Amino acid sequence: MTKKAVLLTGGAGFIGSHTAVALVNAGYEPVILDNFSNSQPAVLNRLEQIVGRALVCERGDVGDSAWVQSVISKHGICAVVHFAGCKAVGESMADPLKYYVNNVAGTISLLKAMQAAGCRLLVFSSSATVYGDPATSPITEDFPIQSANTYGATKVMCEQMLAEMSSSDNRWRAGVLRYFNPVGAHPSGLIGDDPSGVPNNLMPYVTQVAAGQRPMLDIFGDDYETEDGTGVRDYIHVQDLALGHVAAVRTLLEGASSFTVNLGAGHGHSVLEVVRAFEAASGQQIPYQIAPRRPGDVAAYYADPSAAARLLGWHAKHDLNDMCTDAWRWQQYASQNSSKT
Ligand code: NAD
Ligand code: UDP
Repeated sequence: MTKKAVLLTGGAGFIGSHTAVALVNAGYEPVILDNFSNSQPAVLNRLEQIVGRALVCERGDVGDSAWVQSVISKHGICAVVHFAGCKAVGESMADPLKYYVNNVAGTISLLKAMQAAGCRLLVFSSSATVYGDPATSPITEDFPIQSANTYGATKVMCEQMLAEMSSSDNRWRAGVLRYFNPVGAHPSGLIGDDPSGVPNNLMPYVTQVAAGQRPMLDIFGDDYETEDGTGVRDYIHVQDLALGHVAAVRTLLEGASSFTVNLGAGHGHSVLEVVRAFEAASGQQIPYQIAPRRPGDVAAYYADPSAAARLLGWHAKHDLNDMCTDAWRWQQYASQNSSKT
């Protein structure tokens, strides 16, 4: 039987690459589409090493609708997972047009291509950032959504477009996945998060301090109303997240109507807990200092992931120790290889 082909826009990136492996393991044929604006073509060799066979990759931009349509038709794509986009909150405030072009116009271009090719099943990478500054946790999907920054605004707009398209034409079915804080790496250590420049996020910063690439971690505030005063987030292993995408694709292919779910572990960890867990997993000391709060940060939030359990049969399995162990293995590999991915 021919394997079902699933297009992964941004499939060479952090979450897309792990999802490509998970799709292969689940019996699908991933087709990676990427312009390598935030990843390296060399990731493909690593992916092929992991899965033990050749993978299909199309190099190009999701904004080129006619070309994307031809890719969908050429490979007989049955569903698309749309990862491609920009994701840095600070950059989105400094250069909003870049975010509206790549994230919103890019999604419109993809939807046009899918419509023209007759493929209307889409899994969309959204983010917990759409909840803005939630009043309480755990967060359920019916919490109000509000954009605290341009990046968040692009995710809110795309979610709205998808909701309107599904209600206008029931052949369009979308699975919107709101990720909490993806960290960790594939246990092979061959693929992982590969931020360019100074990492914005906690885990890659910690791994670079552990590797001696940065002298110390700044902890942004220790006076929040949390147990130890540092910020609390819902960290989710990228391997669990990848399986969430497989479950979403399978659920849509089985005929489910559109859905929106949180993908998170359902509990939070503080910055200090992450630092201690990482020290234990890596055997490295993480020097840190307490710095002022980062503007826009909230004290604590974590997901209620029960809708994902109910609709997709999915829940996160890996714990913080797994996330730190795998992130450290990847960091060591990346440090030893000039071209990281
Ligand atoms: P990433 O930057 O590692 O991967 C994105 C990939 O998309 C990259 O390989 C990049 O080269 C590619 N790309 C970007 N613009 C493109 C375009 N116009 N055409 C073709 N390819 C393009 O990011 P990631 O962490 O894997 O995130 C994937 C998605 O998940 C993004 O939409 C992001 O907003 C969303 N998300 C990420 C996080 C996170 O913390 N990593 C959290 C919530 C949501
Ligand atoms: N954080 C920190 N130092 C850093 C990066 C992040 O103390 O160098 C804190 C941040 O204030 C937040 C937590 O770590 O409480 C997670 O931050 P991240 O940027 O990874 O995720 P987000 O805030 O977007 O959920």
